Amino acid sequence: MAIIKYLGHAAFEIVLTGLDGGEKTILIDPWIENPNSPVKLDDYRGRRIDYIFVTHDHGDHLGNAIDIAKATGAKVVGIFEIALYAREKGVETIDGNIGGRLRIDDLYVVLTPAYHSSSRGAPTGVVVGGRDATIYHAGDTGLFAEMSFIGELYQPDIAMLPIGGHYTMGIREAVKAVQLIRPKIAIPMHYGTFPPIKADPEEFKKLVESTTPAKVAILKPGETLVYP
Ligand code: ZN
Repeated sequence: MAIIKYLGHAAFEIVLTGLDGGEKTILIDPWIENPNSPVKLDDYRGRRIDYIFVTHDHGDHLGNAIDIAKATGAKVVGIFEIALYAREKGVETIDGNIGGRLRIDDLYVVLTPAYHSSSRGAPTGVVVGGRDATIYHAGDTGLFAEMSFIGELYQPDIAMLPIGGHYTMGIREAVKAVQLIRPKIAIPMHYGTFPPIKADPEEFKKLVESTTPAKVAILKPGETLVYP
């Protein structure tokens, strides 16, 4: 089972049953000081978080990763240069790079390309797979044709895709991304946090559901999707 909680912007907390049946709690891009966040840093003190995935080092993605790792003992997982930075800040890390599979405990993890920028290393997306669900978080990215390979190779059940435009894909590109990736469920993210990335998730939903078999789950910050 996967329990996916949206923390606003591009931040998610996910409880995922691993390939061997153990449960892992992970965060992706935990900028929990975002204006719509339902959680605070204090909420994480003493909590068990296993891994924090960081797609790139922009402040709205690296966010509070270091502080949460310090508060929880979570390991920061990301591209080599981000892991190096996190290690210098005194937290445990797992470094990887864009390419093949990283086996982390009983999770299946792949860092994917993302068309974006980052000061430390290349920007990435991340695929995380467990026993019952494979999740693709695209990070910040423009549309790229190789998204079809992500769909073909890892067959994500759920894809979190930016729809806000300006810095990432907008709705038009994100609809095309769903057509390329072919997830069962698409979750829009990275919209509405600031004026330049205002977008209507209902429009995304209408366009995706009228052109693909995928369903769109619009999560308000704090809302949870349980899969399957
Ligand atoms: Zn960014």
